[in-house]
Amino acid sequence: RVKDRGRGNYSFYQPQMNAHLLSRMKLEHAMRQALAAQRFAVHYQPQVSLATGGITGAEALLRWTDPELGTVSPGLFIPLAEESGFIIVLGAWVMEQAVREAAKWMHAGHPLVISVNVSTLEFRQPDFVERVTRLLAVHQLPPALLEIELTESIMLQDALEMEERLRELAGLGVSLAIDDFGTGYSNLAYLKKLPIHKLKIDQSFIRGLPDDEGDLAIVRAIVGMGQALHIEVVAEGVETTAQRAALQRLHCGHFQGFLCTPALPATEFWQKLARPGAAMQDALADPLC
Ligand code: C2E
Ligand code: MG
Ligand code: MG
Ligand code: MG
Repeated sequence: RVKDRGRGNYSFYQPQMNAHLLSRMKLEHAMRQALAAQRFAVHYQPQVSLATGGITGAEALLRWTDPELGTVSPGLFIPLAEESGFIIVLGAWVMEQAVREAAKWMHAGHPLVISVNVSTLEFRQPDFVERVTRLLAVHQLPPALLEIELTESIMLQDALEMEERLRELAGLGVSLAIDDFGTGYSNLAYLKKLPIHKLKIDQSFIRGLPDDEGDLAIVRAIVGMGQALHIEVVAEGVETTAQRAALQRLHCGHFQGFLCTPALPATEFWQKLARPGAAMQDALADPLC
């Protein structure tokens, strides 16, 4: 079976296992080479309004396809990049791609907020804000079209310095989102004192919807908190219409998930979703979404 489906398929599945088996050092070496050899790409997953079905933004997600290793999952290489420090170079590259793409979409008539995941180590670089500022200027992107996704663990780092950096970014007009909300830090005091614009409910709380009482209670509480604090709420990892319906009943603002689409290459995202007149402009009405 493998044989008659041709070499392409064979080399897609088999090596994916190899990536896990490869030593850290070799994988790290392959990762550095991959950036130079342009084997990384940034894909985009839409964020959809649960009220209108409109696409309001997109999350930039890094993809690595290697001729020898096949598709290497971010769950595997991001932690490695964080541990080795390579995430500083890799993250800067992602940010540049995303800002460039956002500027392109804006000039083509569909301004969309693009969210970029930023690891703690990147965020802690003393010149982080300066680099973001420069990038926005070079690509003439209004800061309001860039959103930075951080995890709650950022709040555990040198609190005052991080606070100041968050305020500087917010001062620029860049939005700040807390990713995987509910899985990390338990002290919520930062929500009222820091300029946080969005909470992304971790997909582990979405999975049990609409039946799991605990998940319902947690999502309801996060939505309520968002409303009271004027912070937008996005549900991550929505895969079924039943989950989406539960989120609508709970008045959650937006969702992201395979129910709409996984992350797509930039050109495909634009063709299918963002381009004025594209089929999925009302994502809720589309059978895919
Ligand atoms: P994340 O930021 O929480 O991103 C959401 C993850 O959920 C993505 O996995 C996405 O593909 C996946 N996802 C989206 N919809 C669904 C769904 O309906 N069901 C399920 N089961 N999963 C869904 P991905 O792309 O594998 O990325 C994993 C993590 O790697 C991300 O989690 C993020 O923390 C990190 N990551 C990805 N790209 C970057 C990047 O450019 N920079 C940094 N620092 N981290 C990144
Ligand atoms: Mg994210
Ligand atoms: Mg993340
Ligand atoms: Mg997340």
